[in-house]
Amino acid sequence: TDVTAPVAVAIAMSGPQGLSRTSGLPDSTFLHDGQITKRPIRALTLSTLAPRPGEILWDIGAGSGSISAEWCLAGGQAIAIERRADRAENIRANAKALGVDHLLHVVDGAAPDALEGLPAPNAVFIGGGGNAVLLDHLWTVLRPGTRIVANGVTLETEALLALWHGQKGGELMRIELAKAAPLGSMRGWSPARPVVQWSVTR
Ligand code: SAH
Repeated sequence: TDVTAPVAVAIAMSGPQGLSRTSGLPDSTFLHDGQITKRPIRALTLSTLAPRPGEILWDIGAGSGSISAEWCLAGGQAIAIERRADRAENIRANAKALGVDHLLHVVDGAAPDALEGLPAPNAVFIGGGGNAVLLDHLWTVLRPGTRIVANGVTLETEALLALWHGQKGGELMRIELAKAAPLGSMRGWSPARPVVQWSVTR
């Protein structure tokens, strides 16, 4: 048996040891192609998103759907919007493997157009496609009280999030992580790219 296959991992983790109740499951839990919000960042992101039972999330640029899946495991319902068909398939597979396919709806398409007609969310996560057009659109259509969380890794996205933080408030956080890795015969810190996270309530 290939225990690295996500379905096998999910089944194994629902065994005697069980699936962890906190967000930030191992990346290997999810079928992905490398585009996935890594475990520590995912844990912080879910904490900022702050799911409550029954709440609806729009996960824009959902990738593997890891954020949506963990939102659903925390008791919410998610709409994962992803423009790449192969990734949308991964999201469906991950939802099924984790037993949340009845809570996680996948929309094949590109935001903001693909957001048309969706049920109003309690929270929105922008993991991809974060640009001025999308933020303007969201600010217009979202109900007051909607929580918005956007993660950026590029300078361009960082500049945009800093601008919006200046205009709308909320919290701007920079997450810098490093892991120990071999350095010659010893070890050194191997830093990950910083992630800038803007969170605000509409
Ligand atoms: N949070 C995800 C990773 C997101 S990677 C996870 O944990 O798996 C960013 C994703 O956004 C990519 O899959 C990319 O295809 C998607 N994307 C970028 N712009 C988009 C847009 N305008 N609409 C929908 N998806 C978009």
